[in-house]
Amino acid sequence: MGKSLMIVDDSATMRKIIMRTVRMSGLEFDRTEEAGNGVEALEKLKGGVVDIILCDINMPEMCGTDLVKRVRQIPDCNGTKIIMVSTESSQELIDSVIADGANGFICKPFTPEKFQEKLSPFMN
Ligand SMILES: [Mg+2]
Repeated sequence: MGKSLMIVDDSATMRKIIMRTVRMSGLEFDRTEEAGNGVEALEKLKGGVVDIILCDINMPEMCGTDLVKRVRQIPDCNGTKIIMVSTESSQELIDSVIADGANGFICKPFTPEKFQEKLSPFMN
């Protein structure tokens, strides 16, 4: 069955770049969604869960680290994989967001190869 993807980033330009990079990586999704912050993402998840969320950290309204905690409280999203995509890359931050329930971390700037490496384990 085809996979679904949600890209959460407060920059519309960055969402486009991420989408293009995902396509360049060769990964294919049946359905893609976009959200500008955590609040929007939660609202869209109510309308239908997704398989993979690519999630920025610094965003207004609700940041990515708070979104991870909230998504992990939604039973329907038990199987949803959350990969953080951020310029912030301290090991402390990575460890804490993984402990909160994120499944991976991609540092900006990124490459199609990096998306392939981090997402393909979740495409089966
Ligand atoms: Mg941001």
